Amino acid sequence: MSKDIDINEITGDLKNYFKQQKELGVEYIFMTPYKQNTDEDKEKSDKSDGEKQLSENTHQMNLLDSATKKMTLEQISDEIGDCTRCKLHEGRTNIVFGDGNVNARLVFVGEGPGRDEDEQGKPFVGRAGKLLTKIIHAMGLQRTDVFICNVVKCRPPDNRNPEADEMTTCGQFLTKQLISIDPEVIVCLGSIASKYLLNSKASLGSLRGKFHPYINSKLLVTYHPAALLRNPNFKKPLWEDMKLVLEELELPIPGD
Ligand code: URA
Repeated sequence: MSKDIDINEITGDLKNYFKQQKELGVEYIFMTPYKQNTDEDKEKSDKSDGEKQLSENTHQMNLLDSATKKMTLEQISDEIGDCTRCKLHEGRTNIVFGDGNVNARLVFVGEGPGRDEDEQGKPFVGRAGKLLTKIIHAMGLQRTDVFICNVVKCRPPDNRNPEADEMTTCGQFLTKQLISIDPEVIVCLGSIASKYLLNSKASLGSLRGKFHPYINSKLLVTYHPAALLRNPNFKKPLWEDMKLVLEELELPIPGD
């Protein structure tokens, strides 16, 4: 289902937001309706009127007709081109589009490239990436079985978190990638990707442990491999999450 919105019919913060995004080159904004739980209901009541209006309106609108807008990954990469849509382009060496299987049943989404990824133009190839590769192998899979990408495709300076405008500008391409691949399961690595894709302010802890609907896929939130490098205590819960993924995909769980 899709609905074309005339920007003149929208008022207040939402109108300014769309105008700004249009100027930045964003063609459409897709938001999945997020089922609020009790924690989030509380957070929702803490939101400003502008934020409430934004999330109410965007949740009611599906600005994307996924059937007609489905593109190949090659077309999406061509559309990104030599992107200068946001300030992150200024410091990048390479755009990190993502790589793996275009028909993957499972997609991993991180937040954005680091130094190694920026240098090589490939996602998750640094220290955290090597750990992600180990996790994929422990699941009985290869990197070529899955697709790996990020919310933003250019490295944020000094590995800072991507900013909201950067995520919205670049996130349209992530949405297109996810529609194109149409995986059964999406795993969000860390809170930045999780909160972005779920349009939620809830903590990673409260989003973990269950599948969330995302377009046609089931989305699971887990720890970022970089967090595991800092705190090995996250290893066990991450493996529990990966077991849920394997169960959902009806794949054998190695070691069980
Ligand atoms: N961290 C991310 O979130 N993405 C990468 O590609 C590498 C590290």
